[in-house]
Amino acid sequence: MKNKNSIPFIDLAAQQKQIFPELEKRIKKVLSHGKYIMGPEVAELEEKLAEYVGVRHAISCSSGTDALLISLMADGVGPGDAVFTTPFTFIATAEVIALLGAIPVFVDIDPRTFNIDPSHLEAAIKAVKENDPSIYPLPRTFEFQPASHNQQLSPKAIIAVDLFGLPADYQRINDIAREDELFVIEDGAQSFGATCRGEKACALADVAATSFFPAKPLSCYGDGGAAFTDRGNLAAKIKSIRLHGKGEEKYDNIRLGINGRLDTLQAAILLAKLEIFPHEIDARNRIAEKYSNALQGIVEVPVVPSGSTTAWAQYSVLSDGRSEIQTELKNEGIPTAVYYPKPLHLQTAFDYLCYKKGDFPIAEKICERIFSLPMHPYLKNDQIDRITQVMKTASGRRE
Ligand SMILES: *Cc1c(COP(=O)(O)O)cnc(C)c1O
Repeated sequence: MKNKNSIPFIDLAAQQKQIFPELEKRIKKVLSHGKYIMGPEVAELEEKLAEYVGVRHAISCSSGTDALLISLMADGVGPGDAVFTTPFTFIATAEVIALLGAIPVFVDIDPRTFNIDPSHLEAAIKAVKENDPSIYPLPRTFEFQPASHNQQLSPKAIIAVDLFGLPADYQRINDIAREDELFVIEDGAQSFGATCRGEKACALADVAATSFFPAKPLSCYGDGGAAFTDRGNLAAKIKSIRLHGKGEEKYDNIRLGINGRLDTLQAAILLAKLEIFPHEIDARNRIAEKYSNALQGIVEVPVVPSGSTTAWAQYSVLSDGRSEIQTELKNEGIPTAVYYPKPLHLQTAFDYLCYKKGDFPIAEKICERIFSLPMHPYLKNDQIDRITQVMKTASGRRE
């Protein structure tokens, strides 16, 4: 059974085959007009992204990380601010909070959706307001500082993540946020193309950030991202911060910003990919359904709450026999991945927050049991059959 054709985890080559003529046409056009920064493709892409998501403003950015950073900067997040987020995500989500001198306050996740749990969020906000870690585990950087620095943390914003492509519970998150006038950011890096109650992902909070990194559902050939909002004043601030805090005139700088623009060439590539993107989302859904039907009872398959759809950035399952199943798959040339092996509160970079093991037991437990299977729109039926068959055999052997 060994040395069969291996199956790619993500197949960008199959996608490129589909769109090559359009891709070539679009890239050649950029090469001929030569406007490599903020060329016409950038404006065209932003218009199409806003239309697809159903919001007034889409602002393309140099990466998903920068789209998150710029969104926080646009809300004035800084030292003394508590920003609530999940420990079960990619480092970028919490990194941007810390880079601005604000404090990431982690909140445990729902064990079924893997997204931030709104009831835990309420408890964490209360704990920060009352400066009482007996209500909910809090970072302890502030507790032990001398009186002159004993600045009370104040709740400022929430970054909810649509993990693996499934939107978080924004109905409840937005309600909770409203009570304390907290700013809500949707980290939609993995969920572009998903929906919740008839609305598209990236339209579900005050502002959203997505990523066009090659492994994301809509991707370019390098780094890229975008921010989305319905609010005109916020969009204007985001655009200014993206361009070094630009004012009305070219060398008028009215605030601090960053170099956060998307390259024209990447915009051209995204325009070609956006044309087939709705079909790709349909294909991902068909593949996920096939996986789930075959894997029921073998592993714990993903849960999609009614009213939501996911973009299937990852197809992730839970099993106590993770490493055995992964090894069997690997022996058959089938790659898997673990997103994420370590929750953020236990990452060395966040040692200074003084969180400890046991603070977020649900996220910690899921980190030990989760793994992702190959997922891309060009996965064939016989490949899915092969993958699920190997998993069946592997789990039968465990029993
Ligand atoms: C990929 C990702 C990011 C960062 O996006 P980049 O484009 O790589 O900077 C942020 N948050 C989540 C949840 C991601 O998956």
